[in-house]
Amino acid sequence: MAKTKPGKKDLDSYGIKGTNKIVRPGDCVLMRPSDLDKPPYVARVEKIEADHRNNIKVQVRWYYRPEESVGGRRQFHGAKELFLSDHHDMQSAHTIEGKCIVHSFKNYTKLENVGAEDYFCRFEYKAATGGFTPDRVAVYCKCEMPYNPDDLMVQCEGCKDWFHPSCMGMTIEEAKKLEHFLCSDCSSEDDSRRSLNSFPVSPAVGKVEPKRRKR
Ligand SMILES: [Zn+2]
Ligand SMILES: [Zn+2]
Repeated sequence: MAKTKPGKKDLDSYGIKGTNKIVRPGDCVLMRPSDLDKPPYVARVEKIEADHRNNIKVQVRWYYRPEESVGGRRQFHGAKELFLSDHHDMQSAHTIEGKCIVHSFKNYTKLENVGAEDYFCRFEYKAATGGFTPDRVAVYCKCEMPYNPDDLMVQCEGCKDWFHPSCMGMTIEEAKKLEHFLCSDCSSEDDSRRSLNSFPVSPAVGKVEPKRRKR
């Protein structure tokens, strides 16, 4: 157990005002941004504590949205993608406005319906350097891009690789109707070996200051 400063008390849970939702350490929450036109911040609660005046604060670890990362949003980033950052903060529990679920990438791709509260995370993000862990991910299709779970892909029965309909000269509607699919390489029985490719996901940048989120 971490030491608690005098007058502070660790809490097991916090009830979000105006809701019947209970937040516990380990839960993911939506926090009100200072700029109300922006989407809520997403964080993982690590600790909840009350001071001697019963002000409740939460220790959080921020999730970053792709547009908040150094490299920005890229084509393979999903609409509900988040990066678990190494950026920690103390925040007033009052800024918590709801709960959400940050799924693993695999579990997210298996969801039948993606609700407003569903997000996913496949990368950890270092706020100071803009670096990602893992640093490389598998790529698919002729365009050699990482998988974006928002984009429909079709699997080739020959090489088992996945392809974007548009990269194969098909519309999404045509791809949905397909019962069998062979990519252009497999249908021409071209056995030129595909290289084992990977895609660098961390931008090559120098050190930058981590973002501050004051409110
Ligand atoms: Zn493609
Ligand atoms: Zn193929």
